[in-house]
Amino acid sequence: MKRLNSTFFDTLHYRLPKGPSTEKLRSMALARDINLLYSGVSEFGISLDETTSEADLTDLLLLVAECIGADVPELNLQAPCQLPEQLKRTSGFMKQEVFHKYRSETEMMRYVKRLERKDMSLAHSMISLGSCTMKLNAASEMFAISWPEFAGLHPFAPLDQARGYHEMMVELRADLAEITGLADVSLQPNSGASGEYSGLMVIRAWHESRGEGHRDIALIPASAHGTNPASAVMAGLKVVVVKCDARGNIDLVDMREKAEAHKDHLACIMVTYPSTHGVFEASIQELCQVIHDNGGQVYMDGANMNAQVGLTSPGIIGADVCHLNLHKTFAIPHGGGGPGVGPIAVAAHLVDFLPGHPVIDNKRPAMFTVSAAPWGSAGVLPITYGYIKMMGGEGLTYATKMAILNANYLASELKADYGVLYDGERGRVAHELILDCRHLKTSSGISELDIAKRLMDYGFHAPTLSFPVHGTLMVEPTESESLSELDRFVEAMRSIRREIAEVESGAADKTDNVLKNAPHPEQVVSADIWNHLYGREKAAFPLPWVRENKFWLTVGRVDDAYGDRNLVCTCDPIESYQ
Ligand SMILES: *Cc1c(COP(=O)(O)O)cnc(C)c1O
Repeated sequence: MKRLNSTFFDTLHYRLPKGPSTEKLRSMALARDINLLYSGVSEFGISLDETTSEADLTDLLLLVAECIGADVPELNLQAPCQLPEQLKRTSGFMKQEVFHKYRSETEMMRYVKRLERKDMSLAHSMISLGSCTMKLNAASEMFAISWPEFAGLHPFAPLDQARGYHEMMVELRADLAEITGLADVSLQPNSGASGEYSGLMVIRAWHESRGEGHRDIALIPASAHGTNPASAVMAGLKVVVVKCDARGNIDLVDMREKAEAHKDHLACIMVTYPSTHGVFEASIQELCQVIHDNGGQVYMDGANMNAQVGLTSPGIIGADVCHLNLHKTFAIPHGGGGPGVGPIAVAAHLVDFLPGHPVIDNKRPAMFTVSAAPWGSAGVLPITYGYIKMMGGEGLTYATKMAILNANYLASELKADYGVLYDGERGRVAHELILDCRHLKTSSGISELDIAKRLMDYGFHAPTLSFPVHGTLMVEPTESESLSELDRFVEAMRSIRREIAEVESGAADKTDNVLKNAPHPEQVVSADIWNHLYGREKAAFPLPWVRENKFWLTVGRVDDAYGDRNLVCTCDPIESYQ
């Protein structure tokens, strides 16, 4: 039997000799509970990994020998390594002490715990990062992902061996279609940004199917998330920026002008709703109509779905495609680079253009693929499934109302001290708000950055900094936070405002003050030497309740983007190469 790949790491590719077909091999393998990868009538692949045992290898030898009518060869585990010389690594790697220091489980556990203690997380306090929807990831929702039935399945497992998984995904797609008011959903994209790219590719494929493949202009409002223009360019579109007005809304006049000027080449608009300015734009339906009238499609960025679920939907406003961030609105944990899921939902006319996957579906040759695995990050889908099923329609709608109520509560409590940059026609925000800090910089020299750093001394993670508007903080409490936690945040922000007032009045120094020096790490506060014009207690325990749940930082202020722009070489000195 012929092996077709001359070099290999963990996957072998064979052609069967004349006679037996892959169909015969498949049925014999299935009888032994073995899955191989089959292609065409005579080729198959075997993938091995660290879980493959000697007994598995013997089973494989028996299977193939019987199938092709050959003698069973002896298992030879001493076979020479087949990697070509030029691919073998000659340099050392992972030589740093940390990779060798922790040699027992006890030591490893303490090391990992030590790292964990440096991390300010949702287990300490509210993380009010605007646009990120840092909501509760309930234990009951996450329970199932560690079950081997979900965690141990290969993404290319034959469909009939994964019927339960598929039942869950079919239901989930139907639920997400209902929530978005659209016709069907693809679970393949692995992030919101990947969803944007996929959705735009769907729009392109649809235009092409109508003989309008030349449509390549994407209108994007100035308030958009940075991933929007980046995805548009990756999808081969040209970006035309639409202005926003003084209230933060898309400038409809400018949008209409641009849509009409480009009407022969307009592919789509990418619009976030509610906007990244945290406002439900009342003109959203009119906006969608203008785009449709000029031959374009509406891509709705669904990162802010937490303000819509159960109350309105992309379908109601007139969008054709939207992505959802299951790792924002739908309870999958994020922050720290875990697997994301950015499914796209599309209207009926676009269903045929959804991404496909050649391994599981070769009936639609025109389809494209955006993820190596057919259902993307399928391993974390049980979290969203659990979230939707346990909340139910009423629960999800209630959560949306609470998310909006919480944001409006913070807006009304903090308006007087900071100012809320944008609100809607009725003076309300959506599920998040932008606190204006620019006037404080003028009056005191204290910036939004100093406020963000100072919040750490109070035990809070910073809100979103200078996005989407420079000099501001964007706060999104989510429905998960209780009134008492919101009140703690309000108290901290008011206390910080009083600290700023001390600088304004001259009672505190312009540079040596609690804000400019924040955050205050443990070693600094407890050191024998303290050279500041204010006391240690004010630095570390600015409010009485901080004592109860003090989060001690391990480092002081890191100078923002300085480190990104001034690279430091940590390589070994040149002498070490002698
Ligand atoms: C988070 C976000 C995205 C990108 O989603 P990722 O999953 O991080 O790729 C896009 N648009 C908006 C408005 C967002 O908040």
